[in-house]
Amino acid sequence: MTPEPVLFITLDSCRFDTFASAHTPNLKAVAPLHKAQSPSCFTYGSHSAMFVGFTPGIPGAAEPLLDPKFGKLFKLTGPAFPGKGTEGYALQGANIVEGFARLGYRTVGAAAMGWFDPETATGRHLSAPFDRFAFPGPYNLREQLAFVEAEHAAAAREGVPTFTFLNIGETHVPYWFEGAPWDQNDNPCIPFQSVDRSAECRTRQRACLEYVDRMLAGLLHRHLGGTILVCGDHGDCWGEDGIWEHGVMHEMTTTVPLVMRDKGRAIGRAQRPASVVPFGARLSSLRREVAALF
Ligand SMILES: [Zn+2]
Repeated sequence: MTPEPVLFITLDSCRFDTFASAHTPNLKAVAPLHKAQSPSCFTYGSHSAMFVGFTPGIPGAAEPLLDPKFGKLFKLTGPAFPGKGTEGYALQGANIVEGFARLGYRTVGAAAMGWFDPETATGRHLSAPFDRFAFPGPYNLREQLAFVEAEHAAAAREGVPTFTFLNIGETHVPYWFEGAPWDQNDNPCIPFQSVDRSAECRTRQRACLEYVDRMLAGLLHRHLGGTILVCGDHGDCWGEDGIWEHGVMHEMTTTVPLVMRDKGRAIGRAQRPASVVPFGARLSSLRREVAALF
């Protein structure tokens, strides 16, 4: 039997609040939305970490897959670091792409941002592991999806399962998509700018994500019986603490949306048993009891 397909999508620079407020029925059909922490504040750092299994998670959630410390969706295992048994996939190799290839998957990648450009040394690092890879550049989601569709059709004819990675650039500054009713050259989020254009950043990134959602409908639908990970690789600052864009460590650049599906199962937070009281609440209760003694 052919293993289930795996789909890994990074919405470049997509903020959590953008995802939460956008009309994205196809993305939201994947699984409940989680507020997660990304492993870095810029594209190369984040993808380098994610490609060895350190995908965004919820610190302290203590639940497999949502808290990668507790159990990673994509876990690289080896003699020095065996899995815990809580992983989605136990993989072997230099990175998760190679890991899926070793499991017999056809690995297909299509990326938007310059860090993935195979003409550069950093781009080769991120793109070389894939069996098939396309780099059409940013704001070309249509072309990325056409490439993926053709690869999937070929793999289906051969009966080969697919691991597919998409790095989507429409949500990256200047926040633009094919047919957007604003000038592609007008970037409302320039580092060190002194003018407050946060409202345009918010409106435009949300519109970009809604376009992405419409474009992804078919691809997501075909993977609902398989595994899907969709997340931001980092966020952007829109003037918080005087900071614009990303590439600096800040709560807004490291807080990202996360939706996840493991072999057909939507991953939501477990219901806490009534007897389990969060540590903070226990501490408050203890403080009250101690105060009552004096
Ligand atoms: Zn990025």
